[in-house]
Amino acid sequence: MGNYMEILISIADMKKWSFNHIKRGNSIGFVPTMGFLHEGHLSLIHKARAENVAVVTSIFVNPTQFGRNEDFSTYPRDPDADSAKCSQAGVDVLFMPDASDMYPSGYQTYVEVEKTSGPLCGASRPGHFRGVATVVLKLFNIIRPSVAYFGMKDYQQLQVIKAMVRDLDLDVKIEPCPTIRESDGLAMSSRNSYLSSEERIQAVCLYQALLEAQALFQKGEQRAQKYIEAMAARILKEPSAQPDYISLVHPQTLEDLKIVNDRALAALAVRIGKTRLIDNMLLEAQ
Ligand code: AMP
Repeated sequence: MGNYMEILISIADMKKWSFNHIKRGNSIGFVPTMGFLHEGHLSLIHKARAENVAVVTSIFVNPTQFGRNEDFSTYPRDPDADSAKCSQAGVDVLFMPDASDMYPSGYQTYVEVEKTSGPLCGASRPGHFRGVATVVLKLFNIIRPSVAYFGMKDYQQLQVIKAMVRDLDLDVKIEPCPTIRESDGLAMSSRNSYLSSEERIQAVCLYQALLEAQALFQKGEQRAQKYIEAMAARILKEPSAQPDYISLVHPQTLEDLKIVNDRALAALAVRIGKTRLIDNMLLEAQ
């Protein structure tokens, strides 16, 4: 049994609900998602619930962040299960706008976060972060949250949103949340549902490659190339794995590192069969 939760579809209704909370001085915690919710999403919702008077979760599979040959039309959807999970987790409003309301005909305004969107997923998914920044700014304007919660699993997305908030003087605090993993280490993702049972076993190679990078860091290895070789060797052991990128970057600028000093981000995108998975690990001295 969950609490009483409203499901709002209309942008005007969502704005009205937020206005009523804001005028009473209530903090609104916001968790944007594309649905097919798992424990990773729920960890963000629980944090939002613990830290705010009101909690809004959105489910919107945002067409502008998918490339032409990507999985927009097949992206997994289960609104009934999602709404039960949100209600159970204490969400006050589940906002599920229609694409035709978010992007009515004549829509022409987009947000470009230039540098941070360039490398990693930005290079392999042109236009992706433009779509992400645009929809997140629209959702921020509709919901007007005090705090918004984002997973470190999508590390580059988090950096893009932080840059947008800073550059456009938005009044929202961005709260990073740790990556939630399956018991074998695979990062939870709605896209894991695409994996066959054989692929699911092989998919653990992303996490294991990151652990190899972490072991090198703990040994004091400074040559970035050594990290990349070790991660590639682990990934290429799996017959269905095809790396998209294997990178060691600066955790703020996301620029490639040659030499590792006190901090680095190991970041991966790997296709397991047809499914593109991402993962990352922050390497820093304890
Ligand atoms: P998505 O529905 O995949 O767009 O994700 C919505 C939010 O949940 C984003 O902020 C993600 O970073 C976050 N998220 C997704 N998977 C995980 C995970 N395994 N652990 C923590 N956060 C996650």
